[in-house]
Amino acid sequence: MRHEHDFDFFVIGGGSGGVRAARMAAQRGARVGLAEAAALGGTCVNVGCIPKKLYSHAAHYSHDFADAAGFGWDVGEPRLDWARLKANRAKEIARLNGVYEQLLTGAGVQILRGWAQLVDGHTIKVETTTGPRTHTAGHVLIATGGTASVPPIPGASLAVTSDSMFDLAPFPRRLVVVGGGYIACEFASIFRGLGAEVTQLYRGEQILRGFDDEVRHFIAGEMLKTGIDLRLGTEAESLSKAPGGIEVMLHDGSRLEADTVLFATGRVPNVEGLGLDAAAVRQGKHGAIEVDAHHRTSLPSVFAVGDVTARLQLTPVALAEAMAVVDHLFGDGRRRMDYDGVPTAVFTHPNIGTVGLTEAQAREKFAHVAVFRSDFKPLRHTLSGSSERCLLKLVVDSASDRVVGLHMVGPDAGEVVQGFAVAMKAGATKALFDATIGIHPTVAEEFVTMR
Ligand code: FAD
Ligand code: NDP
Repeated sequence: MRHEHDFDFFVIGGGSGGVRAARMAAQRGARVGLAEAAALGGTCVNVGCIPKKLYSHAAHYSHDFADAAGFGWDVGEPRLDWARLKANRAKEIARLNGVYEQLLTGAGVQILRGWAQLVDGHTIKVETTTGPRTHTAGHVLIATGGTASVPPIPGASLAVTSDSMFDLAPFPRRLVVVGGGYIACEFASIFRGLGAEVTQLYRGEQILRGFDDEVRHFIAGEMLKTGIDLRLGTEAESLSKAPGGIEVMLHDGSRLEADTVLFATGRVPNVEGLGLDAAAVRQGKHGAIEVDAHHRTSLPSVFAVGDVTARLQLTPVALAEAMAVVDHLFGDGRRRMDYDGVPTAVFTHPNIGTVGLTEAQAREKFAHVAVFRSDFKPLRHTLSGSSERCLLKLVVDSASDRVVGLHMVGPDAGEVVQGFAVAMKAGATKALFDATIGIHPTVAEEFVTMR
């Protein structure tokens, strides 16, 4: 059989969204090509969720060692072997890179190693190591992700972004983190747990804008307790080399010295050199690719998913969008991405887990809102001696009795909230929460016992 195009479906970017789309399309019988310029697995596998969570586990040990004495354990003076942690992480990530390659080739996807560019709605040029190759495809998916954005202050090149944090040499004894979002808070907690002196600078009045206000204040308090020097309303004005490291000049004229300065000041879509202008793909703020409800761009044969569209920058969102595209093109087209009630976690110490509306959002949307909260010391810390506390909060629309927001700061909050997110998707009411029997003694049981 002669085909009009080399491929039915060509994916640019082998990260969360791209790999999932390529594999699923191939499993549905499409002839699929995928171009990846760096390591397979993208941000999440190489410099995002996975290594970050592994380091978060590493950091939690320091709290466990400290807590152990109250339970009768003498563990001596713990010492981190940073080189061993880095090597073990690198080994695991390399294993995952291989798994991703096998998943793709096993499904019949042709992988092209190199930078890809869109020439027109059906043509892609890939700069492979053996020279440029041009291919045509019936449909193209752009899943090129995002990249860290750094404010253009003097000396900014002395700082690093999260990409470099996993392999720092030597371990940063003094770390300054700039930003108050997911990455800033997670890395501040992780490196504090690993033993660094951490100063976190946030320009606004409270970290984690967009999260429930009580959660924001609560986690800021908990982070301070762990020894993070969190400075709100503070901006870094310039960086310069100092004999012992990097000097950070603050807007109020004071100075800090650090071994490493991390800019965690947001991410922008990865669109440079993609040929979007020439191909006339419509873009929005920071170059984000504009898409419709089917993730179709202004070029009808070209689709885009994940961080390059700058919607919710989360791996499970990129995966769900990818599956919706494949279903639309090669399935029954019934799968739609639903951006409501996407749960999320921030891997600070302690963790944050959240789903649904903040209290402020609920008060804007509904006439009457009931709020239930529980702020307590978990059982574990009655013996550990730690002053860490938990916050659990439910936001309820009084008229329908539906739980419209659920928030937690506490151990394994992401694990807990994932289950409750299903209940909320199913439209669970507060009466249903009340009718559910708790599991005792747990932290999560508070969600069904708050009256
Ligand atoms: P990516 O996974 O970034 O993949 C894009 C791929 O495209 C890359 O491999 C890139 O090399 C390739 N590429 C780009 N341009 C080209 C080109 N022109 N040609 C060929 N290849 C190209 N999300 C969570 O849900 N949970 C977390 O705990 C979490 N932690 C994170 C921690 C950090 C430090 C960071 C930075 C992000 C984290 N995220 C987390 C976000 C998550 O990683 C992203 O939302 C997700 O990876 C987006 O997937 P994607 O497919 O859009 O892009
Ligand atoms: P965020 O958008 O979460 O946070 C960016 C932070 O940088 C904000 O506090 C912002 O302040 C601040 N900022 C922006 N510009 C400047 C500037 N010029 N000077 C000083 N501060 C500035 O981005 P992140 O980089 O933390 O993470 C990117 C995305 O990756 C997240 O939004 C999330 O979707 C995803 N991610 C998810 C994780 C998870 O699921 N656990 C973990 C890590 C990342 P302000 O609030 O004032 O604008």
